[in-house]
Amino acid sequence: RHEAFVRDGETAEVMQGKTLFERPGQPDISFARMRGMVEALAGALTAAGVAPGDRVAVQVEKSPEAIALYLATLQVGGIFLPLNTAYTGAEIDYFIGDAAPRLFVCDPAQLASHAHRAGDTLTVLTLGADGQGTLAERAAAATPREDAHPCGPDDRAAILYTSGTTGRSKGAVLTHGNLASNTEALLEHWRFDANDRLIHALPIFHTHGLFVAANMALVAGATMIFLTRFDAEQAIDLMDRATVLMGVPTFYTRLLKSPRLDRETTANMRLFVSGSAPLLAEDHRAFTERTGHRILERYGMTETCMITSNPYDGDRIAGAVGMALPGITVRITDRETGAPVAPGEIGLIEVKGPNVFEGYWNMPEKTAAEFRPDGFFITGDLGTIQEDGYLRIVGRDKDLVISGGYNVYPKEVEEAIDALPGVLESAVIGLPHPDLGEAVTAIVVPKSGTLDADEIRAALSDLARFKQPRQVIVVDALPRNVMGKVQKAELRKAHAGLYS
Ligand code: ATP
Ligand code: MG
Repeated sequence: RHEAFVRDGETAEVMQGKTLFERPGQPDISFARMRGMVEALAGALTAAGVAPGDRVAVQVEKSPEAIALYLATLQVGGIFLPLNTAYTGAEIDYFIGDAAPRLFVCDPAQLASHAHRAGDTLTVLTLGADGQGTLAERAAAATPREDAHPCGPDDRAAILYTSGTTGRSKGAVLTHGNLASNTEALLEHWRFDANDRLIHALPIFHTHGLFVAANMALVAGATMIFLTRFDAEQAIDLMDRATVLMGVPTFYTRLLKSPRLDRETTANMRLFVSGSAPLLAEDHRAFTERTGHRILERYGMTETCMITSNPYDGDRIAGAVGMALPGITVRITDRETGAPVAPGEIGLIEVKGPNVFEGYWNMPEKTAAEFRPDGFFITGDLGTIQEDGYLRIVGRDKDLVISGGYNVYPKEVEEAIDALPGVLESAVIGLPHPDLGEAVTAIVVPKSGTLDADEIRAALSDLARFKQPRQVIVVDALPRNVMGKVQKAELRKAHAGLYS
């Protein structure tokens, strides 16, 4: 973690004065100031009884102080556990009960609903979006701590809960080695260094914003233009003073809606990265037409950090997520037998490498079930590696539709629908059907106005019959979470009775 403050070839003094956080309308925060904040917080954590191995659960608004709290937790040997700001009462009960943290830090406005949690084994403190609260008071009063608890690559650094797209969130236990190896691999792969200026508009309770974006900027000694939310017009305004944007696909959909997105407004930018959910191939192409930039799509998950990436120099292919990052091995296996499939065939994506997590917190059986005896982790995503060596994701195993005994990969049908005139995007799901088991069903969003469901069905007659949607439902928008992930479980629930 101290690498964050000193970089090869640069003196500590130069780095110390450099800006780490830039925020519109607010004072900059230098690396030196950040270091002071981290040391003060480390002192406060120690004074609050946080010992090596203790969990520090945090549900706060995005702020530089929240990043400082993350670093301070690592500095004292604690395990950082960030929680989605959207979680409420019963969900927080589950996470606190499951992870048994020593300290819980919440927003001052939420204190009333969490004060009852405090007791002999759990301290509750507050941290507001402005950095104020009882944690800041404790930090001001504590003796700053400069030393770092010695940690090796196998020591635990964080428990990060998965997004809960397919069911209840699971706590992924990540080690220092997981985070360090992945950051190093990404810095090299994306040529990210101290000269970069990153537009950081992602939440910091998820792997994308914290372990990809923030870790890379901290270790590289780069500057983050730190935004609490993504606003396309603001992002375009900032692009002439930035070099890199890391975003979820919806960032790009929204940028493309602005008439100001063009070659000129993006001229200073060197890299646009997309991940956390599939980027629409049409957005990929439209973005290149408008700006000349090819979005670099990568693939990862909470349990593994980043797995594959399109190349920096080579061809960045729309609809593909690239090759395994250095040091990481990816293979595709048959979803029934577990045996490796022939090149080009679809199967389960499995991964092995220094990026792969230790296991799920408090879930030894689930952990054992998701690892092969030879150490490969079964991602639960389906994909194929074709002759060109690029991995293409075809969807989640849990979203696979089995209709009349045939496997239907939703992505294939979605791509056919998305290519039709007037279609913005679609989600293909399987719904219970008395004869077929599951019936292929398409939820379709028009570009504007409305679409005729029968016309869409008729236009898909090139697909094999078993892949053709039995019903097409036209809607205004797909349900998405904050990371831009389409909530297919929600769609299946909402339309469960369609064929009964
Ligand atoms: P849960 O595991 O709780 O159901 P989740 O899998 O959505 O939730 P995350 O770890 O945040 O939780 O997301 C990882 C998943 O996101 C991957 O397994 C994959 O399905 C999807 N994903 C990430 N990047 C991409 C991408 N570039 N293209 C397609 N899917 C992606
Ligand atoms: Mg998952």
